Amino acid sequence: MHIELTEMLRCPEPHGEAFLVMSTGEMHGRMVRSGILGCPICRREFPIVKGIVNFAGKGKGKTGNAADEVATLPVSPFPFPAVDSETLQALLDLSGPGGYVVLVGAAARHAVGLAGLMGGIHFIGINAPGDVEELPVLSLLVCEGMIPLRQTIARGVVVGSDRLGPDWLAEARRVVLPGRRVVIEGEDVPVPVGLTRLAAGEGLFVGERR
Ligand SMILES: [Zn+2]
Repeated sequence: MHIELTEMLRCPEPHGEAFLVMSTGEMHGRMVRSGILGCPICRREFPIVKGIVNFAGKGKGKTGNAADEVATLPVSPFPFPAVDSETLQALLDLSGPGGYVVLVGAAARHAVGLAGLMGGIHFIGINAPGDVEELPVLSLLVCEGMIPLRQTIARGVVVGSDRLGPDWLAEARRVVLPGRRVVIEGEDVPVPVGLTRLAAGEGLFVGERR
């Protein structure tokens, strides 16, 4: 995980947002390879192992959700993204460097292609497939049922075809900045409240946050 991402994170427990406290172990450049993140409100702790932040462990207040077996995600049967990087960049309406783009589930596979088109953007993969590795431009987070980021911090969000449930779509809307876009790798999806539909077709839905 890129160390500057720390201030964008939030605890997955249903309490107010607060900055997590980082205790770093091994660093590799600006990437934290091992360490612990602590929540100052509920005192939960989240380990960083091999660069990946794990928010999915058991903690007090945890409700549990058998539908989200993030620790045992199979490798996607679709090794190649359904949409090419140039198209995705255009749909996200991304130009200029800086900021964060969130890639949920199998959409993490777009990080390398998008990074090749746009320098200076940091990508955040949520529950990425097991064969997607951390990169200087890509931080990986694992969490059950929510995106462990503060609200309205993302310049764009792409939701992969393996994460099309209403919870994930509502989370995508929560973290994207007003006026910015969410691209969903599915057409017949329940449009989250607060997203304006811009286009749908060819297996994709494009929405803009109001
Ligand atoms: Zn907490």
